[in-house]
Amino acid sequence: MTAPKIEFEQKEDTFILKNVRIGISFHWDRKEDQEFAGTLEIRNNPDGTQTAINTIDLEDYLCSVISSEMNANSPMELLKAHAVISRSWAIRAMQKTNHEGYDVCADDHCQRYEGLRRMNERAVEAVRATKGQVLMYNDEICDCRYYKCCGGRTEIWRTCWEDIDVPYIQSVKCDWCDMSRQPAAVSRQILRLVLNDYDQETKDFRDWQVTYTAEELSEIVRTKSGIDFGEIIDLIPLHRGASGRIDQLKIVGSKRTEVIGKELKIRLWLSRSCLYSSWFEVAHNPSPVTGNPSWTLIGHGWGHGAGLCQIGAAVMASEGKPYEEILSYYYHNTQLKIAD
Ligand SMILES: [Zn+2]
Ligand SMILES: [Zn+2]
Repeated sequence: MTAPKIEFEQKEDTFILKNVRIGISFHWDRKEDQEFAGTLEIRNNPDGTQTAINTIDLEDYLCSVISSEMNANSPMELLKAHAVISRSWAIRAMQKTNHEGYDVCADDHCQRYEGLRRMNERAVEAVRATKGQVLMYNDEICDCRYYKCCGGRTEIWRTCWEDIDVPYIQSVKCDWCDMSRQPAAVSRQILRLVLNDYDQETKDFRDWQVTYTAEELSEIVRTKSGIDFGEIIDLIPLHRGASGRIDQLKIVGSKRTEVIGKELKIRLWLSRSCLYSSWFEVAHNPSPVTGNPSWTLIGHGWGHGAGLCQIGAAVMASEGKPYEEILSYYYHNTQLKIAD
């Protein structure tokens, strides 16, 4: 992590980082103290900030990631599936890092890595049970992307990232995350199991709506983009991916018009934090009371939608599907192998 000044406390076998910011610019953004195994190095950056770098064994890192990403009481097959994709992702990330001076960051940009305090035995058991296993497509370790909830159909790679076809990331119909199929008590239980405490503050993520007044929308877009569009006149989806997620959106303002993409930029520019997804319809409503228009975004899903749907996978696991079947449902024509 990087901060103006890193505060830490060295213990016998571990160290504590103070005031670590998690969920940066997402709606669960907050600070907490975190404790880590392995070694700590503090690097001074040219801009005057400091970066804390933790060196740790891959399998130990995964125990913390699975504990951080998932609830301890999740179905074991879900934890195992997650251990495999987090390991595959991490090995890929080490081969081609997006960061200078270290392999992965600790936030949602890479994978949530929150040290030892959320560590739990069942996550550790899942990592141990799948030790070394990665997901392969031909001879390549898969870049296993995942997110909270697809919203009914998963997305393809190019809607979110580069303009390439990634053969194992196909768009599949996913009814598994449709909680209306479940009795309310069962769906509450699954959500409680799958989502960490702060994620449970989020409700209605499969089908959601956001409404802004015209002033609010113009102000949000101006603040988040740093561009003065003037008054927003129209939001026109120009292109959608396989699930329905918008990857090209035309923003028509009184002063300026621009086409933006891909899905994450659209989510960031149209929300004070981040929209659940870019799969939405735009409704422009004149207010019956004031005559002032408002905007409603009627959306589906939570996250980019490419790869594994965590809620869907949790339901599959809770209905007795083994982790191998869960993985092959969301990652096409892949095989499980032990990494070299
Ligand atoms: Zn990162
Ligand atoms: Zn789903």
